[in-house]
Amino acid sequence: DFDFASRVARVEPSATLAISNLANELEAEGIDVVDLSVGEPDFDTPDNIKQAAEDSLAAGDTGYTSSNGIPELRTAIAEKLQADGVDCGAENVVVTPGGKQALYEIFHTLIDAGDEVVLLDPAWVSYEAQARMAGADLSRVDLSPYGFQLEPALDDLAATITDDTELLVVNSPSNPTGAVYSDAALEGVRDLAVDHDVTVISDEMYDEITYGVEQTSLGSLDGMGEHTITVNGFSKAYAMTGWRLGYFCAPESFVSQAGKIQSHSVSCAVNFVQHAGVEALRNTDDTVDEMREAFRERRDMLADLFADHGVDVPVGDGAFYMMLPVDEDDQAWCEGAIEDAHVATVPGSAFGTPGYARLSYAASQERLQEGVERLAEHGYI
Ligand code: PLP
Repeated sequence: DFDFASRVARVEPSATLAISNLANELEAEGIDVVDLSVGEPDFDTPDNIKQAAEDSLAAGDTGYTSSNGIPELRTAIAEKLQADGVDCGAENVVVTPGGKQALYEIFHTLIDAGDEVVLLDPAWVSYEAQARMAGADLSRVDLSPYGFQLEPALDDLAATITDDTELLVVNSPSNPTGAVYSDAALEGVRDLAVDHDVTVISDEMYDEITYGVEQTSLGSLDGMGEHTITVNGFSKAYAMTGWRLGYFCAPESFVSQAGKIQSHSVSCAVNFVQHAGVEALRNTDDTVDEMREAFRERRDMLADLFADHGVDVPVGDGAFYMMLPVDEDDQAWCEGAIEDAHVATVPGSAFGTPGYARLSYAASQERLQEGVERLAEHGYI
């Protein structure tokens, strides 16, 4: 028998696993499943980015890079963040194999056993797991009574954050709600973070995917430079989930500590993928605009389809997710929806908010329509 570390015992297997197992079983039987559970764009990576990777491979960019990333990419990332108003230089950037690894390094750089981490529910599934693996105790603020907005929940947040709080995670636009937090909400976060000397992870993974609103980068607010660690990546904005490329931007003192974890674990992100990342940041605006427009049309269509069936779904201004109100036992609802209607969704309880199912609209309009029709036919809406 293995003598397992408490680290793994503190973490549950992914709640989305049951759903994807069911989907796989049905598909193996030849059944057509409308998969609205996936957290990735259904688009292929833009051609100019693929070409840049091919050119880089052909040029022999196949060895290790410096651990924190190639200078061209760190500079391009710093320039992107400066354009967002964040005071960031190349020396503040660590390039990681995906945003998830960036988050892993941040939690492990800051959290000692028993430190308090505050999450805003519903929260993306991996924050809790990563915080727990690092030994954190979790406190949670529920945004669901407030239509998933943060501004009306600021008093609740103020009641939760104390001088013992080490870290707060803010994710705007949000996975799973699509909410984009208002500037007033972010200013409220700033005041609390400064007052209680709390570090805030600002996960801006979906910042390029907003509809008619601008997402303010938390680190651009006065006084937040020293308190914010900005996390982002290429998976969602550039349809590059499988390339594994992300980054964080932090004060230099933080970079030198987190850099130890990076250098002793993954060493660096893939060399030619980093070169492709420079191309993504510098020359892909038009394709990003097209993908954003497609997501916006799908969001509007999906919300209209639910409205036609008398279901009012809170619609966010960003990302490509919606939280559909379902039965209190959302796990059973999601299992039923996939078994009877052959529509795959993710239970809200996986994100800390039972009573909802998360739908991804990173699927074609035909598939979204088919999904809603099947849910209606089988009495799920
Ligand atoms: N943060 C959020 C909110 C996400 O939804 C995801 C991916 O689903 C990530 C971070 C991590 O993305 P990646 O590791 O592909 O960069």
